[in-house]
Amino acid sequence: MKYYSTNKNTPDVSLKEAVVKGLAADNGLFMPERIEKFEPAFFENIQHLSFQEIAFEVANKFFGEDIEEAKLKEIVYDTLQFDCPLVKVADSIYSLELFHGPTLAFKDVGARFMARLLHHFLDKQEKLVNVLVATSGDTGSAVANGFLGVEGIHVYVLYPKGKVSTIQESQFTTLGQNITALEVEGTFDDCQYLVKTAFLDEELNKKMVLTSANSINVARFLPQAFYYFNAYARLKEAGKLDDKKLVFSVPSGNFGNLTAGLIAAEMGLPVKQFIAANNENDVVFQYLESGEYKPRPSVETIANAMDVGAPSNFARILDLYKNDHSVIAKKIKGYRYSDEEIRKVILKVYNEQEYLCDPHGACGYQSLSEYLSEHEVGVFLETAHPAKFTETVEKVIGKGEVKLPNKLAAFMKGEKQRELMTSAYEDFKSYLQNRPV
Ligand SMILES: *Cc1c(COP(=O)(O)O)cnc(C)c1O
Repeated sequence: MKYYSTNKNTPDVSLKEAVVKGLAADNGLFMPERIEKFEPAFFENIQHLSFQEIAFEVANKFFGEDIEEAKLKEIVYDTLQFDCPLVKVADSIYSLELFHGPTLAFKDVGARFMARLLHHFLDKQEKLVNVLVATSGDTGSAVANGFLGVEGIHVYVLYPKGKVSTIQESQFTTLGQNITALEVEGTFDDCQYLVKTAFLDEELNKKMVLTSANSINVARFLPQAFYYFNAYARLKEAGKLDDKKLVFSVPSGNFGNLTAGLIAAEMGLPVKQFIAANNENDVVFQYLESGEYKPRPSVETIANAMDVGAPSNFARILDLYKNDHSVIAKKIKGYRYSDEEIRKVILKVYNEQEYLCDPHGACGYQSLSEYLSEHEVGVFLETAHPAKFTETVEKVIGKGEVKLPNKLAAFMKGEKQRELMTSAYEDFKSYLQNRPV
């Protein structure tokens, strides 16, 4: 299968090239040239398949032409070493818990899949591949854990000093092996600047193989479709869809997760409606209302993984629906919430339903409770474990410690190892060049 750029200003590439390069040469995002549909029979029997079996069928539609079946199955099964269960929260509202992976957030699925796919493509290549990732917290931990121990790949996680939480920091500074954490004297934007400059540095790229692992990479983005199919299967299995239509609500920042859902629907998954739940960073919400897309600097909120002012995957949504605002506004319904509203929802759901949402999932829950009508079932993607946001959540519910899951506790016990780095590009460059590889 070929992949084209959403900017349509550069030749199509192979899957391997799309994965290794990440971004197209014209700065567009890669899209698969075809989105293959499942036969209706697949959905009639889907409830008999396990999550891994479903994920393999979906992966096969994307990657089947490029990777032999046994290998692809191994990659999928190895990625999904944890479940993404559906938990009933209220009448007709379910939480799709995507936080049972190593770093307790949904990015684990895409990061693990990408690490394995990249490794597969590099099997015969002798040179070490260096993954550079700038993070404000969650992306770094998912990528570092996804790539941990994968041969032939070294990961550098750049993070701003003093600006990520202790829990987040522990998730990428305690790993060792092929993961190096770089603590940068500066902001997240400085980290991103260092990474972007390195990718454009011809001299450096002649000496070492560099690649990125952020959400624009097709290998991170497409596997996110897996759990939408599985949610449908599990609801069908439980008889919840007999006379009802399915609505998904997706807490969105860069819109990769939601776009993967839209692609699942294009593959035939019966979804009546998608909802994009935002915090105050609501440029897509505004676009859906007005037809005008006006990116702007992000503002800080308590749902900080959605603090994005210019969502990168929006280009994919425009491409998918040929820039047609009326089609897009039908496919996606927008909701937005202030920090105050998010706090109220967390408290309400905790008191009334005895379910603890994280600040991102809370936006998803609330949009469903406002949107749903009688013949619909709603699923919100619970994108992170509430323990990742202990401080916020405990203040809201006004009591006790949110229990730190064993996985997080284990990170906290590890020894913190990181290198200090200034925000000057020359320092970063000379550091990379002098690493023993
Ligand atoms: C990354 C992230 C999001 C946003 O996902 P996108 O695919 O960027 O829209 C939402 N919630 C959490 C917890 C995240 O880590």
